[in-house]
Amino acid sequence: LKAIEQAARQKNRDVEFPNFDRSNVKEGIVHIGVGGFHRAHLAVYIDSLMKEHGDRNWAICGVGLQPFDAGMRDALVGQDCLYTLIERAEKGSSARVIGSINSFLFAPDGPTKVIDKMAHPDTKIVSMTITESGYYYNENTHELEIEHPDIVADLKSDLQSPRTTFGFLFAALEKRHAAGLKPFTVLSCDNMQKNGSITRHMLLSFARARNAKIADWIEAQGQFPNSMVDRITPRTTDNDKTALAETFGIQDSWPVVTEPFTQWVIEDSFADGRPAFEKVGVQVVSNVHEVEKFECHKLRLLNASHSAVAYAAYLSGIEYVHEVFENPLYYKFIYNMMHKEVKPLMPAIDGVDIDKYCDTLLERFANPTIMDQIGRLTINGSGKLPQFIMPTIAEQIMAGTHDFKRLVFVTATWFRFLNGKDEQGKPIFIDDPMVEDLQARAIKGGAKPFPLLDVKSLFGDDLRGDKIFVEELTKAMEGLYRDGTMATLAKYVD
Ligand code: NAD
Repeated sequence: LKAIEQAARQKNRDVEFPNFDRSNVKEGIVHIGVGGFHRAHLAVYIDSLMKEHGDRNWAICGVGLQPFDAGMRDALVGQDCLYTLIERAEKGSSARVIGSINSFLFAPDGPTKVIDKMAHPDTKIVSMTITESGYYYNENTHELEIEHPDIVADLKSDLQSPRTTFGFLFAALEKRHAAGLKPFTVLSCDNMQKNGSITRHMLLSFARARNAKIADWIEAQGQFPNSMVDRITPRTTDNDKTALAETFGIQDSWPVVTEPFTQWVIEDSFADGRPAFEKVGVQVVSNVHEVEKFECHKLRLLNASHSAVAYAAYLSGIEYVHEVFENPLYYKFIYNMMHKEVKPLMPAIDGVDIDKYCDTLLERFANPTIMDQIGRLTINGSGKLPQFIMPTIAEQIMAGTHDFKRLVFVTATWFRFLNGKDEQGKPIFIDDPMVEDLQARAIKGGAKPFPLLDVKSLFGDDLRGDKIFVEELTKAMEGLYRDGTMATLAKYVD
């Protein structure tokens, strides 16, 4: 830390540093999935709490469950788990060294260490950002994908080396139960509506299939707060590292870049205490329905807009999000999608002006300094579209209004993307856990939506069975295959 401080001083730049004794903290939080977002969000709130309020009980032990987390382990462990948060705005950027992550465990090297850490009496919260696909949640049945090979393996094994988050959570909770401890709170920070309720249901289904007694205990005493999380956090690039070294004098193997905006709304239901989140700007609400309303606005307006531009922009060769919003056609398309198709279904929230909310989103999308990559937004469509796009379409069908042609166009762009060739015939890298099945179906169907719509874990019968939806989708896909993305998009703007 001293070396970083010195280097920054030489550059004569203001950098914020942890002002607390990092050797004298309790690790009250274990976080699974230390990616960009965790390091720009929860870890920053906790850092503020430690720094501004001297709270020492909630330092974080980061956990990587996936083999590809080895890179994060090497980066963090090599720099004492410190890293730099770079906030970028049009008026300039700032740097802050974050000290709230205190240690890091890489599960493939020692799964029992991870389980023991979660089972430790100091651990009060296990939080997670494991992406939508880490939940094994079937969108159609709303149940755990109990036949998924990873879940099957964890249900059969002795859980010495689990494959899934639920395997780890269960093994640790079983140990806590045996030790007479309370369960930890499981805090999902992933972008899913009812993220806490889904986590609870998935874990309980897993637990029930293993041991009814433990499942009963979790059901009675466990807590799974719902939360709405927001802060646009692109992937870190080599340019970001170089710029950090040149501008601030900091050599960091894996800094994180984000925007100035940040928001977190959490339901106040914790099993064994919680940090005083409200002291550092988190909106803690007592009523689960309040969180759901905030979640609904955020997922169906912000995340839906991201997914709405992702595939079309990729197909038309655009690299960054701000470039999309510089294009009047796209801007108008998103503006109209928000206002005409999504907003009419949104719940009212006291103190929130939804028109202003939409305007702020459009401003945030247009921030050219954070260089948010279109490629990032295309990842894991099978986890995202069923959360961000399909529910609005389904509600439009239910209401009998069918004001959804732009949302249907978005679905068509995803289907078109899934065939794996862009408009120049170049192969597309599709980063999605369901890629094999989805790509085969996209190729088989061509401009016809059906092989893909048949995937029951992603699309409900309400969509598949709606004549107007299927006709609109077929029309949009035919346009994309025949005329290309931009020409087809133009027909959906007004
Ligand atoms: P990232 O790629 O930087 O990190 C993803 C993390 O998830 C990695 O640590 C990875 O190991 C872990 N992970 C992935 N699949 C997993 C699985 N099956 N089991 C356990 N761990 C798994 O991505 P990120 O930007 O940190 O985003 C992670 C999640 O955070 C998103 O999927 C989203 O739900 C939420 N989020 C992201 C943003 C953002 O702007 N990046 C904003 C709000 C919410």
